[in-house]
Amino acid sequence: MDISLLKQYALSLEVDLVGFSDLGVSPIKNLPELKYAVSIAVKLPDAVLKTIENKPTIAYFHEYRTANAFLDNCTFKISRFIEKQGYLAFPIGASQSLPESDYEALFSHKHAARLAGLGFIGKSGLFINEEYGSKIRLATVLTSMPLKPEIPVIKNGCGSCDKCVKACPAGAISGTIYTEGMRREEFFFADKCSHHMKTYKDIGRGAVCGICIKACPYNKL
Ligand code: SF4
Ligand code: SF4
Repeated sequence: MDISLLKQYALSLEVDLVGFSDLGVSPIKNLPELKYAVSIAVKLPDAVLKTIENKPTIAYFHEYRTANAFLDNCTFKISRFIEKQGYLAFPIGASQSLPESDYEALFSHKHAARLAGLGFIGKSGLFINEEYGSKIRLATVLTSMPLKPEIPVIKNGCGSCDKCVKACPAGAISGTIYTEGMRREEFFFADKCSHHMKTYKDIGRGAVCGICIKACPYNKL
């Protein structure tokens, strides 16, 4: 199938970003052919993110969940579209986690999106796109359909900025710049972040924070 048809279909679902990558190895045991990825992203509304002031808001939590549900729906539809062309497709929802771990994602959407040239992983651990900053949610479809990136991998753009390091109330952001192959715990302390989020039990059941999103200059908030 022509890759442009797949892109056209994904964009027709009103996602904001679409990119393709060759992961080299399938992340799914027993399905080695799923080594290609379609990354999609949707932007969260600026007005809602502006409501975050030193803590998350119910409005932010609501839109975060709405964006995840929207992306999950899109990955399902894109998977159906790919299957109809005769390939395997495996949708991975926006917030899927391994049941045995609170902190490790089943699959790193950021890793695939980075290989697709859609942006870079910031000091905050957030994925940053040049146009939308980190005001996005990501999801992925793994597939056996041969795909290759349309854009080269983008260089990390954090430079000497440390706004998220200073803004994080949990001390979860070390300030180390992410480089290829680095494990998350080498630059970001997910346990500290998660424990801090749980202090907001009254807002989104302790599952969101958003302070580092608000602080990042790429988001122009
Ligand atoms: S979400 Fe909150 S606690 Fe987690 S890294 Fe960002 S600012 Fe820190
Ligand atoms: S606030 Fe600065 S250091 Fe943190 S992710 Fe954004 S650009 Fe990078």
